[in-house]
Amino acid sequence: MRIAVINIDRCKPKDCNYLCQRVCPMVKTGKEAIIIDPEKNKPVIIEDLCSGCGICVKKCPFEAITIINLPEEIGKPVHQYGVNGFRLYNLPTPKNGVVGIIGANGIGKTTVMRILSGEIMPNLGTNAEWQEIIERFRGKEIQNYLEKLSLGEIKAVYKPQFVEGIVRYVKGNVREILERGDETGNLKNIIERLDLKNSIEKNINELSGGELQRVAIAACLTKDADIHLIDEPSSYLDVRERLNMAKLIREISSDKFVFVVEHDLVVLDYLSDYIHIIFGHRGAYGIISNIKSTRVGINEYLSGFLRSENMRFREEIKFEIRPPGEKKSGDELVSYPDMMKGYGGFNLYVNSGKLHRDEILGILGPNATGKTTFVRMLAGDIEPDNSKIDLKLKVSYKPQYIKPKEELVLSLKLKPDLIERFGIKFLMEKKLNELSGGELQRVAIAACLSKDCEIYLLDEPSAYLDVEERLKFAKYIKKFAAEKEVSVLVVDHDILLIDYISDRLMVFSGESGKRGIASEPMNLRDGMNKFLREMDITFRRDPETGRPRANKPDSVKDRGQRERGEYYYFG
Ligand code: ADP
Ligand code: ADP
Ligand code: SF4
Ligand code: SF4
Repeated sequence: MRIAVINIDRCKPKDCNYLCQRVCPMVKTGKEAIIIDPEKNKPVIIEDLCSGCGICVKKCPFEAITIINLPEEIGKPVHQYGVNGFRLYNLPTPKNGVVGIIGANGIGKTTVMRILSGEIMPNLGTNAEWQEIIERFRGKEIQNYLEKLSLGEIKAVYKPQFVEGIVRYVKGNVREILERGDETGNLKNIIERLDLKNSIEKNINELSGGELQRVAIAACLTKDADIHLIDEPSSYLDVRERLNMAKLIREISSDKFVFVVEHDLVVLDYLSDYIHIIFGHRGAYGIISNIKSTRVGINEYLSGFLRSENMRFREEIKFEIRPPGEKKSGDELVSYPDMMKGYGGFNLYVNSGKLHRDEILGILGPNATGKTTFVRMLAGDIEPDNSKIDLKLKVSYKPQYIKPKEELVLSLKLKPDLIERFGIKFLMEKKLNELSGGELQRVAIAACLSKDCEIYLLDEPSAYLDVEERLKFAKYIKKFAAEKEVSVLVVDHDILLIDYISDRLMVFSGESGKRGIASEPMNLRDGMNKFLREMDITFRRDPETGRPRANKPDSVKDRGQRERGEYYYFG
């Protein structure tokens, strides 16, 4: 069975004069495998007539066509966005507890959420009645759910991925917004648990991204719904906030259906009772795997091989299990003294240290403990209160929250290899405010790395990137630091990413918005142990994949590791 997908946004017949149609060998022999839609003036590929030769795929100047052969057994899709549109196969299994969904961007996760919430009715590829849809899933756990959905008996609530967008349609005081929406009487507890007490008297448009994320989660969890659909709850939250959020979601999930899409694998692992993997081809099709236990699901996702389906869907993602020794970094780039800085109610104390060339310094620590202030002092942007430093270093900075402006991507000065590497080529003619969260992040990272500087600071580069994009970024940044002989500082709250990329670690501690203490840069083992001790959580490595996993509080492993002071690495 062959599917042909055309990315309509990219397709520009005015620029190519329907090149695909002109080169198609079937069309040349009189079989109309490609016709032109007279209304939209765009090509349509007739899948039954297409031979799958792939010539149009290669010739299309905008890489708008994807032709894929799928096994016959896959049957009809559950949903398809029009002729030559994206297709979704299978549906997930609703179970009490948290069902984690993991998959690349553009693979259909939002589509699944929209189907489960009743926002779109699955069309089985063309047009379908509910009866046919229910029939299709007869005998499966989702049948009953679909029956209720068809009768309008499911109440769903959805936390969207891109929290910045919320302020466009929700206005006013945070407390009033949350109180108005509370259907459970549990708001007070949730505000406490998500540490929102200092945020609720603010206007929603004054909130930081991390506050907005927690407010959106609170709004979702205080609805008395049958199903909670939570899309990427981790973005902009620091590690402690992620763990608190995960614990809270688990608690409310005991007698409800909760589906969570998440790319931070440590959080997904901690949060989920079950996992569905969505695999396929970005923008073209997505297949939902069987339901799996959390450990098996995440390991199979990383291995690229689904055991019960007996199916390889990509190469394995490998984590090197590094000994906690230090990598030999390059020459010293800068040595900085002890520094202090106070603003109104906030005080930062930085222990002196050194940065090296060809080194990635991972930075872990809560939000608002002075990480940005530290780097701005190095850059000479602001002066420490206790000393004058004149490092004259050029610093390029990617902020945590990226403000999408009206500007075109084209107006940014991006280096060609970065455009290629971060898959930005076909975004160049879009306005920044038209990009998805992940696209905007990739553009912002590329813009930061396109400047010629000695120090690069990337603040939460993982937000909105999927696991594969995070890994691609990680590999590239290592190469970048080595080739340019620069120092790269990465602040992130995805422990797996920080573990993977860091040569050394700097740990910020203190109290958000009040006090920050920055450690000197340390080796990975000392840094991670210090950080996790502060977070009051221990980690082990999964024996199969080497990925970090959070230990259950008070488990045998947890207690043993605490006693030895080994919060993560074993000696
Ligand atoms: P994910 O959430 O995994 O990033 P989505 O479910 O949002 O993926 O989208 C999967 C694919 O479906 C994308 O290629 C997207 O362009 C396409 N798509 C999503 N919504 C529509 C729509 N309303 N019409 C046409 N195509 C759509
Ligand atoms: P982080 O990067 O760790 O999130 P920041 O260095 O951005 O932390 O901020 C630390 C604290 O200092 C925050 O509470 C922030 O509101 C405050 N702060 C940062 N810059 C200024 C400034 N120019 N004036 C007053 N307060 C500031
Ligand atoms: Fe041109 Fe490609 Fe569109 Fe065909 S699919 S009309 S080749 S842009
Ligand atoms: Fe025509 Fe080949 Fe493209 Fe099919 S794959 S539409 S046969 S050019």
